[in-house]
Amino acid sequence: MSAINSLANIRIVLIQTSHPGNIGSAARAMKTMGLSELYLVNPKSFPDEQANTMSSSATDILENVVVVESLQGALIDCRLVVGTSARHERSLAWDILEPRECAEQLVKQAQTAKVAVVFGRESSGLTNDELALCHHLVHIPTNPDYSSLNLASAVQILSYECRLALLTRLDGAANKVSGEDITEEVVTADAMESYYKHLELAMIESKFLDPENPKHLMTRLRRLYGRVNLTPSELNILRGMLSSFLKIKK
Ligand code: SAH
Repeated sequence: MSAINSLANIRIVLIQTSHPGNIGSAARAMKTMGLSELYLVNPKSFPDEQANTMSSSATDILENVVVVESLQGALIDCRLVVGTSARHERSLAWDILEPRECAEQLVKQAQTAKVAVVFGRESSGLTNDELALCHHLVHIPTNPDYSSLNLASAVQILSYECRLALLTRLDGAANKVSGEDITEEVVTADAMESYYKHLELAMIESKFLDPENPKHLMTRLRRLYGRVNLTPSELNILRGMLSSFLKIKK
């Protein structure tokens, strides 16, 4: 896939949007920056006339929207998942990215795989369970006393940063193909989810993890693996190890 097409691999995911107008505005924001893939997780109302009105002429994006029932369903084929937060503080220490750094990573990975940026509810943002499915968290540095942007404005800023990252990349590379960017093998979010289930089972069976008192262990491990770009063969090694540990008789 050529770098120019990488924006097509950046999926915007909106969770339980309450105002259909925001869906339309988000579609418009995306189209102005060259993004096109919009997934909606349980929107309150969609399709909706207000969404059409606010999209202006980005109706093609609305026509191709994919509506799913769970965030996992929206991430199945994604290699990198970034959650967005209106707040900088979170109870669990996150590696919070700046929009620019985040967009560089998204555009880089999007050259060879699907990536997603997840936006939360207008009222309450993302839940901890949803955040656990994200590899990184991005916060747009806003006024700490009034930090919450309108949902579509947040989509606009991150879409713009992705476009800027792509243009900078094309400019810098001047069509030169850099070896470090060519990663043929990708592990999908779906494959990682199966791995996490396997890992959790092995840790419970070995009594390393007490399901009654998990102490955020899985979230921390997801964070750790989120920092590593595993190849499918490395993932196979890890799965093979877990299977062999599970065979050991107690
Ligand atoms: N009251 C909510 C704010 C939700 S704003 C809360 O405190 O979490 C709706 C969504 O817009 C957020 O979930 C996030 O996806 C996005 N958003 C708003 N402001 C943002 C910011 N400063 N940085 C990153 N995303 C932001």
